[in-house]
Amino acid sequence: MNPAVPLILQAVSFLLGACIGSFLNVVVWRVPRGESLVSPPSHCPKCNAPIRWWQNVPIVSWLALRGRCARCRAPISPRYIFVEFLTGLLFLAAFWRYGSFAPLAWVWISLMVAGSFIDFDHQLLPDFTTVGGMVYGVVCPAAFASIAWFTGADLREGTCGSEAWPVISEYPFAPSLPQSLAGLALGFGLLWLVRWLGGKAFKREAMGMGDVFLMGAVGALFGPVCVVVTLILSSVAGSVVGLAMVLLSKARLGGFKEIPYGPYICIGCIAWMFRGPELVAWYLRLFAPGSALA
Ligand SMILES: [Zn+2]
Repeated sequence: MNPAVPLILQAVSFLLGACIGSFLNVVVWRVPRGESLVSPPSHCPKCNAPIRWWQNVPIVSWLALRGRCARCRAPISPRYIFVEFLTGLLFLAAFWRYGSFAPLAWVWISLMVAGSFIDFDHQLLPDFTTVGGMVYGVVCPAAFASIAWFTGADLREGTCGSEAWPVISEYPFAPSLPQSLAGLALGFGLLWLVRWLGGKAFKREAMGMGDVFLMGAVGALFGPVCVVVTLILSSVAGSVVGLAMVLLSKARLGGFKEIPYGPYICIGCIAWMFRGPELVAWYLRLFAPGSALA
C-alpha cells in the first residue's frame, strides 16, 4: 500500500472533523431556538451580512478575519474556531484509535459535541444526543459487524486490521448486542437511581432526565465497564470545575447557577474512548494484582 495513504487519511479525518464542527456550531445555535438548519443561510447576527463560502472555511476564516465580521467588524465568538478545532482533533484521535471503525465513533463524537455545548448554554440536553445516542448505541454492533465483514477484519484476534486495510484498533466499541443492552440498562438504571435519591435528599430535581438518557447512551455504545469509569471520571471532573467556579466567583456553595452534568459525562466518555481500557488495566494492576481482569 502507498505509504502516503494513512497520512492522507489522517488529514482527511481532521479536515472532515473541522467541517462537521463548523456545522455543529450552527446546530448549537439554531436547534435550541427552534430555527431551521438550512434557511436563512449563515449571516452576521449584527449587520445581517450574508457569510460567503470563503468566509465560512473552518478554522482558516476565523483566523483570516481575526474573529470579526468582514463588513461591520462585530466580534465573532472564539468558540466557533474552538468547536471546529476540537471536533477536528477528536475525529483524528478516533481515526488513530479505531482505524476503519472511526466513522462509527465520529457520529457519536458529533452528537456529544453538539449536546455538550447546548447543555452549557441552555442547561438542557437535546433528544438527538440522548435518545438518539441510545438508539445509535443499540444499532452500532450491527454496523460494527458490517464494517468488520467489509474490511475483512478478524475480531477474534482483538484487532480490526486486515491485509487490504492495515489499520489496527485493539479497542472496538459496541462489540456485541448483549453488552450494549447491559450497558444501556446499567447506565440508565444507575443515573435514574442517583436522580431519584437526589430528588428525595434535596426535595427538588437534582438531575435532569437528559443526563439519565445520556448515560444510557454511553452504556449502549461502550458497555457496562465504561458506565462505571465514566461515572467516576465525570464526577471528578464536575467536582473540580464546580469547586474552581465557587472559588473563582467567591460564590457560596448554594448560591451559584447549577452546573450542567452532561458535558462532564461526555468528557468521561471521551477519556474512556481513547484511554479507558488502559486506565482500568493500570488501576487493577495497582490495586488488585492477580485479579482476572488485570
Ligand atoms: Zn456584521
